[in-house]
Formats: sequence, C-alpha cells, structure tokens
Amino acid sequence: MLESSHRVFYRMTKVKTLKEEVYKKIAAGEVVERPLSVVKELVENSIDAGADSITVELLEGGKRLIKITDNGSGFDPEDIEPAFKNHSTSKLTDLADFDTLSTLGFRGEALPSILEVSKIRIETSGNDNGSGIRCVFEDGHLREREEIACKRGTTIAVRDLFYNFPVRGKFLKAERTELNQVVSFLEPVALVNFRVSFELVHNGKTLFIYKKAESLKERIYQVFGKDFLDALREVNYVEDNYGLKGFISKLNTGISVKKHQYYFVNGRSVKEKTLMASFNNTFEKYLEKHRKPVGILLLTVPPCEVDVNIHPMKLEIKFENSNTIYRFIKHGIESAFPGGGTFDAPGYHMDMDHAVPPPPGQGGGFGSPYPSGYRGGGSGYTGGMDARMPYMPPRGGAGGRMEQGDFDQAQLFSGGFLNEEEFILIGQYKNSYILVEKNEELLIIDQHNAQERVNFDKLKKQYSEHNVVSISPLFPVIIELSSSEAGKMNDETMKILEKTGFRLEPLSGNSYDVKAFPQVLDEQNIKDTILEIIHMPEEQVSVEDRVLAEVACKSAIKVNHKLYPDQMKAIVTNLFKTTNPYFCPHKRPIIIDLTLEEIEKRMKRK
Ligand code: ADP
Ligand code: MG
Repeated sequence: MLESSHRVFYRMTKVKTLKEEVYKKIAAGEVVERPLSVVKELVENSIDAGADSITVELLEGGKRLIKITDNGSGFDPEDIEPAFKNHSTSKLTDLADFDTLSTLGFRGEALPSILEVSKIRIETSGNDNGSGIRCVFEDGHLREREEIACKRGTTIAVRDLFYNFPVRGKFLKAERTELNQVVSFLEPVALVNFRVSFELVHNGKTLFIYKKAESLKERIYQVFGKDFLDALREVNYVEDNYGLKGFISKLNTGISVKKHQYYFVNGRSVKEKTLMASFNNTFEKYLEKHRKPVGILLLTVPPCEVDVNIHPMKLEIKFENSNTIYRFIKHGIESAFPGGGTFDAPGYHMDMDHAVPPPPGQGGGFGSPYPSGYRGGGSGYTGGMDARMPYMPPRGGAGGRMEQGDFDQAQLFSGGFLNEEEFILIGQYKNSYILVEKNEELLIIDQHNAQERVNFDKLKKQYSEHNVVSISPLFPVIIELSSSEAGKMNDETMKILEKTGFRLEPLSGNSYDVKAFPQVLDEQNIKDTILEIIHMPEEQVSVEDRVLAEVACKSAIKVNHKLYPDQMKAIVTNLFKTTNPYFCPHKRPIIIDLTLEEIEKRMKRK
C-alpha cells in the first residue's frame, strides 16, 4: 500500500482513433524535429535526384526559411502532388528493393511530413525546354499551381517551420545553434558527395562554397584546408565484397579530441558503434596515448547486409554481421600503415623455444667486419644478399650471445613462420636510427625503442606462460639497498621480480644476492634494473607491465651504437612481428614514416 501511494494513476478514457490532423502531426514530428531535419531530407532528395549543384539558403537558422535549390532531375508535372502525399516515393516499390537500395531516401515520408508543419513553395522542371511548374502548399493543401519558366531542377522553399505546431516551435534553439547543426550536417555530406558543389547561405551571407571536386582529397582540402589534409594518409582496401576508401591520421599524429571522424556506409553518413569501435581501437597502436585519430571512411558493403531502416531520421544503421565489419575495418586501417597487418597475421606466434643454429654462412653476420662501402650501390656488403634487394629474413636464428648481449634473443623469433616480410635496408643514421624502405615509404626506426618493443613482447609472452628464461650471473652480483629501498622490497615486489626472472636471496642487513636474472638482460644492467623496479612510480599501467617494460628497456641496445646490417635486419624483422611496432612499451614512438608524396612535396616535385 505504501509503495502504491507513490504512483500516480491517470484516469483512462476510452481508446479512440486520433483525428487525422493530430496523428499526422505526431508522425511528422518523428521526421521533422528542427531545421536540420528539413535540410537533411531536402538535400538528400537533391542528391538522389542526381544533382551536382546544391544550394542551401537559410533565414534565422532555418526557422523562418529553408530554401534548397538543385539542378537534379526535377519533377514531372504529374508527380508533384503525389510526392506530397504519404508514402509516395519513386525509389522503392517492393520490400525486395531494400536489397539493392542505392538512394538515401526510400520511405516517401519527408515531403508530406515537412508539409504538415510548414508552408512550402516548389518550383521544378523535369525537362530541358525551359518550362516548369510552381506549386504553393499551405495547411497541408495545394493552394496555387501555375506554369513558369524554369531550368531543369528543383527549388523547394520551406517557410515558418512549426507555425501551426507551437509546442514544437518552442523547442527550437537559438538561430546560431540551429545553424551550427546544419553546418555540421553538411560537412560530411559534402565530403562523401565530393562531385557535387555545395553552397550555404545564411541571412543573405555566403558561409561556404565547395566547388565540384574531382576527388575526396580535393574536397577535404576545400572543407578543412591544407594542414588538415597534410596530416592524413590515404586508405584504399578491398576484402571480399567490402571496400574501404578514405583518409586517416598519419602515424603518430591525431588530435586531442574525438572529432573529425566521419563514417559513411554506401554513401550514407552514419553513426554506428562497430565502425567507431574498430576504427578507434585499431588506431590505438598508431598514436600516442590520449590522441584520437581523424578519419573519413567510406565503406561499401552489399546493401542486403545492412539495415538502413532502424532510425526515424535514418541516422543509424545496423550491420547483419558486425564482427565481420569490425575485422574488415581493422584490416583496412592496418593495411594503410607500413607494417601492414602482419602482427596479427594468421598463424603468427612468437616462437621462443625453437632457436635453431643458423645455417652455414648466415650466422656469422654479426661478427663479420662492417663493410666500408656497404651503402655504395652493390659493392661492399656481401652478407648473402644484395642490400637493395627486398629483404627476406633468414630461416632459423643465430645462436650464441652477441657482443651487445641482445641480438640472440631477437634472432630467436625467426622460426618457420616468417611470411613475406619485405623491406629494403638502407642503413643506419647517427648510429641510432635504422633507415628502411618498406611499402614505398621511408621508415626511420629508433633502434633502442624498437628493440625495447621486441624484448617486451617476448618477455610478456614468457611471463604470461610463467616461462621467463633466466640465467645465473657469471660472477656474484650483490645488491645493497638503502633502508627505504629495502622497505619497498615486500613480498609483492619479490613475487613480481621472481616471475620476471629474477631470484634474489637476502643476505645480512639490506643486501641481496642475485642468483638468477632474465636472460634478455645484460649482466651489467642487473643492479640498475632491480633498482629501477623498486623505485617505479605508481602509474595506471599494471605493475607487471611496468616491470617487464623496464627489463625490456634495460636489455635493449642503446642509441649511439653502430649496428651491422644483419643486426638491423633482425631488429626490423622482429619489430614488425610485435603487437605494436609503432610505440615502445613506454609509449614512445618507434617509427617515423615518410611517404614518397611527402618527400616529393618537400623537394617541390609536386
Ligand atoms: P523519398 O525520398 O523517401 O522517396 P520524399 O518524400 O523525400 O520521399 O520524396 C518523395 C518523392 O519526390 C521522391 O521519391 C522523388 O521522386 C521526388 N523528389 C523529392 N525531391 C526531389 C528533388 N529535389 N528532385 C526530384 N525529385 C524529387
Ligand atoms: Mg527523401
């Protein structure tokens, strides 16, 4: 009883059918919410009518007037009035037509809905004789109809939105807000329909004119300018019946907010969570933390695999198989980067346990003298392959510990699973950066960060399998801690150290004897690494990952260190098999990539 006292009971009257004028307005409200909705429906109609020039004129944010002029097919005289009747469309007759739908509209609801809540004047011609028709509709009815002189195309003027529906009118926002919504709508529409010229005029002032463009690229330039375009790279990818075209952020750029992500499915601008999730998740490995990718993504899928009829304003869609779409987008994005999708290629695994001795003539690479003329066109380096030939990594790894103490592990990656990982090694810059040509791009690879990533992935795998390979030091290593450091040496730290491959035995006082350490680590770095681990600041990353990152970092080759070609090749090959070749575990960039286009631009060849 107590509970029911909170509930309010309405006195129900008998069920009755709404008067036509009432239900029509309610229905119209679904499609027409504000000026934006009218602009959207009319612009989409113009695009469906094949126009390549569309002008949008607004007065007072569209509240007073929305006028759309196009040079599309126009109406035949007898089609005008039916078009303003409910469910009349020229685009769809059967349910089966949905499977081949290529138009933006299909419900035949827009014109009648707009007419319900505004006054409309239409001038249209469906011929090239210069004659057309003008019709004026008010209060839902045709008021005037006359022949006029008119070019092919259509102008529809929508006046006094919600003049007869004041409740809805009250919800309209300030002129500026309504206008901004129209601008934000036109932006993506103009992008995907780059062959159509668009003009927006507000209160008599032209806000933009995008002339007919030849390519999406040109349109992006028109809409967002040169700097925006310069930070993008092209994606063009096909898999089965799916296609992905567009432009995305270059490696290690992005912006700080999730803005400027435009998704289109079969020419329709959509919000769809699979697309957004796949795009943003896939991009995490190409950007620094807290950066978001820019993306203008034009996806084509068979119309029968997408439901476009789930939202009153057709803003949302539903994929029949979103997992397939997720994977497709992921592959598409990865295909645009020099590493391709190699790091999750089928069958890929990091094989740590199958180090085999190098085949004769290949293992000695590291020990061979660094050839003086290595970069000089073919002479010089003769480590079994032409330096300018695409590099196919050797099968099997090198044995034995290297001089630097870190290439043996890198080499362990090479099992029998290498796929065509092609690149051309150009050389080393400042003894710190490896220069590589891959997929027609010039990559500048930070040798330290690269190896840190390789080591990290390897350690992480060993760690998760409780299988970190550790070895004993050749000479006793005793670590003396300060009392505050010793305080941090609690059970948890000890446990993590142990899982990471360290074994420490307490001696008297605050001293420890290091009985074993991870094999990847150089013996001389043992103390430093343990101290770093003890002093690690609290971050959001898991302790394990931080410890592993530390070990990986300490075991990686430093910058300012001359490398032999085989060593560089090993690093690059292994790098592209890691989970993220673009950022080291500390999220520092590993690769800078320069496209031919960028280089040619700076050389003023383009
Ligand atoms: P839908 O777009 O779903 O077919 P609408 O109510 O938006 O429904 O339009 C009804 C019909 O009017 C369209 O199918 C089309 O034949 C015609 N039409 C609308 N706008 C235009 C236009 N700008 N140019 C030529 N025909 C148009
Ligand atoms: Mg329509």
